[in-house]
Amino acid sequence: MPFPGALYGAFRIARRIKALAPAVATVLGGGYVNTELRALADPRVFGFFDYVTYDDGEIPLLRIVEVSAGAVPAYVRTRLRRQGKVVFCDDPSAPALRHRDRPAPDFSPVARAGYLAMAESPNPMHRLWSERPWLKLALAHGCYWHRCAFCDTSLDTIRRYDPADAETVVAWMERAMADTGLAGFHFVDEAAPPALLGNLSRLLIKRGLRVEWWANIRFEKQLTRELARLMRRSGCLALTGGLECAHDRLLALMDKGLTTRQAAAAMRALAGAGILVHAYLMYGYPTQTPQETIDALDFVRRLFARGCLHSAYWHRFALTLHSPAFQRRDKLHLRILDSREGAFARNEIPFDEPGRPDPGRFGEGLRRAVYNFMHGVGLESDVRTWFDFPMPRPSREALRAGRQPRRSR
Ligand code: SF4
Repeated sequence: MPFPGALYGAFRIARRIKALAPAVATVLGGGYVNTELRALADPRVFGFFDYVTYDDGEIPLLRIVEVSAGAVPAYVRTRLRRQGKVVFCDDPSAPALRHRDRPAPDFSPVARAGYLAMAESPNPMHRLWSERPWLKLALAHGCYWHRCAFCDTSLDTIRRYDPADAETVVAWMERAMADTGLAGFHFVDEAAPPALLGNLSRLLIKRGLRVEWWANIRFEKQLTRELARLMRRSGCLALTGGLECAHDRLLALMDKGLTTRQAAAAMRALAGAGILVHAYLMYGYPTQTPQETIDALDFVRRLFARGCLHSAYWHRFALTLHSPAFQRRDKLHLRILDSREGAFARNEIPFDEPGRPDPGRFGEGLRRAVYNFMHGVGLESDVRTWFDFPMPRPSREALRAGRQPRRSR
């Protein structure tokens, strides 16, 4: 179960399986479980699912099979119901599976699955990822940076970085192409490492594999024009990345490890090579002021106007249980509004910042602005016009954001 949106369907499917074939074991795992259900204590869940597994699923699933067959005694990272109580079982001595040792995923059912192409929205990046089937592979387990304060960095899925090598990834791709006849890949990494993207691109070109692919990256200085051109030649169509609050003070505060100048240079290189660039944007980060919000929007406007950015989306900051921001909530002067633990899901923590206005009021203007920028509208206008209430004038500091330093003659 990857997302909250899959929750209801997963329970309905499990209930149907239990009604049709009660002896079939049902197992719940995936992204939603790993983030939201880590303290699951509601025994009713186990009327639908026999097991709930955490983090990488291969070894827990193997152990469920082996324990059922009486071959080994211990489950790994698994919750189950015993005598009406939810218990967590683990075997810390269980082997860890290295990412590069995973076998190629079996995509053979995809070819006859009859998936429909979805036209989800006019956003060019959202269209790309919804309008055609993509074969999903990960270049690495985890994120090589794993420091951003808003991210779930304490979870194994982010914290433990373990890359495959380019040869292994290309072998997985060849197998997937043979299984399905498809040649479009989505590398699902939260942040694909630039060096590995370079090695992969070189190998795809050397082998003459005609593929198309897209991935999520960090707008790092390693994304040079040479690397961008290489990736484009190897079939890269689009790259998405977090520009977050698009403001240097906030990028530093959240430990993003990027500046607006580095991000702008990376975007310029990618866009110049013909790669579609999409940015994830964030507003409402603790301590963010209206001035910083309008400065960020003006920086984003200039990226669109210069053709460095083609698509973007604003998300409101959410304080999550597994993030450094939650650990630093006192330093950030956040007041937690509801700290009840509950027996089912827990991840996003309601909070406010005493003495500060609700940042929710900025959302509509930010979204309206970027929606229009994506259609080439309002790129030369004063960004304050997108708001229904007075906003400060973009500052001179904002005008400097993202600019390349002047070259000495
Ligand atoms: S936000 Fe992205 S880059 Fe930052 S730690 Fe999380 S996965 Fe890594």
